[in-house]
Amino acid sequence: MNKTIALIPGDGIGPDVIAEAVNVLNAVGKKFGHSFEYKNVIAGGCAIDKFGEPLPKDQLDIALNADSALLGAVGGPKWDDVAPEIRPEKALLGLRGGMKVYANLRPALMFKQLKAACPLKDEVVGDGLDILIVRELTGGIYFGERGTSEDGKTAWDTEKYTWAEIERIVRLGFESAKNRRKILTVVDKANILNSSRLWRKVAETVHAEYPEVTLNFLYVDNAAMQLVRNPKQFDVIATSNMFGDILSDEASQITGSIGMLASASLGDGTGPGLYEPIHGSAPDIAGKDLANPLATILSAAMLLRYDFKLEEEAKAIETAVEKVLDDGWRTGDIAGDVEAVKAAGKLVGTKKMGELVVEYLNK
Ligand code: NAD
Repeated sequence: MNKTIALIPGDGIGPDVIAEAVNVLNAVGKKFGHSFEYKNVIAGGCAIDKFGEPLPKDQLDIALNADSALLGAVGGPKWDDVAPEIRPEKALLGLRGGMKVYANLRPALMFKQLKAACPLKDEVVGDGLDILIVRELTGGIYFGERGTSEDGKTAWDTEKYTWAEIERIVRLGFESAKNRRKILTVVDKANILNSSRLWRKVAETVHAEYPEVTLNFLYVDNAAMQLVRNPKQFDVIATSNMFGDILSDEASQITGSIGMLASASLGDGTGPGLYEPIHGSAPDIAGKDLANPLATILSAAMLLRYDFKLEEEAKAIETAVEKVLDDGWRTGDIAGDVEAVKAAGKLVGTKKMGELVVEYLNK
């Protein structure tokens, strides 16, 4: 298979972690007989420095013309004082909007090897957590009609969803659940919100096509509580933009390892998806060979799975990461007792961690 991947390294640790993900993709390509061609996209703070704007159209076009896109992270204190309309984060919104990616898939996966970093009790997490959150990304209250009254004393935002916008999200939820533990929980506030009642109606209708999947509904306040009380009850959660924004952050926190979590933003499949780690640009450790590249490497695995339908290749990356962790290799952020890991000779930097994944992939 020959495919083009747009690389959007961005700022801070973005270029560090993208470099390692590329090494891993090349190793997978070599092992399974695929060739990946990379096109560089300059977006974020570095684009403000170079072009005076965070996402020039010709840079977005590079991503749109590729088969898939892998992003590092954007932003940093250097651009804190730029005008709001050209902030580095505008590059993210520009990419998501321009690429028409309307669904955000965020696995909240707790690696059993990193259980010590989980803030929940042993009896709550058992042998690990594996939740997939499917968040609506381009509609709802973040995009609805908004306003402020002339006297500045009243302000409003509107939560508005169409059947079609909801259907494509719950369908992705059912499709994902079908290949996992077959439980879909739709999170809403249907006791109060009209729009939530529409989410329920759509989910019940689509459910007829997925009889093998159990469909549950949960109010968002209860869902926030259940995520810390009994997270193991969840398999796939599908929800609106704002509820998903909040719950996906909560779910990733309970896994305890920000440097490990990947994400995918998908559209209708006719264009490239956008894959990225959930962490930011970590300016405090940029360029110091301290960043954990695994979240980006695991994002590359999602890219292979969803955009290129290369399940075996995606699994090969995930298994290599598991084995690296099984053998005790750690970057500082996931080391726990850093001194003990150092003494054991297993404390590594960004580059070495990337090399280890390649090495275990080829074992
Ligand atoms: P952050 O995720 O960059 O960093 C939070 C903490 O986690 C820091 O201590 C950092 O060193 C650590 N960390 C993050 N990723 C790590 C990794 N891979 N390995 C080891 N440690 C890691 O969040 P922040 O500090 O709130 O934001 C920094 C900048 O990133 C800001 O400009 C923010 O706007 C931007 N940001 C970008 C994205 C994105 O591009 N998607 C997301 C969040 C924040």
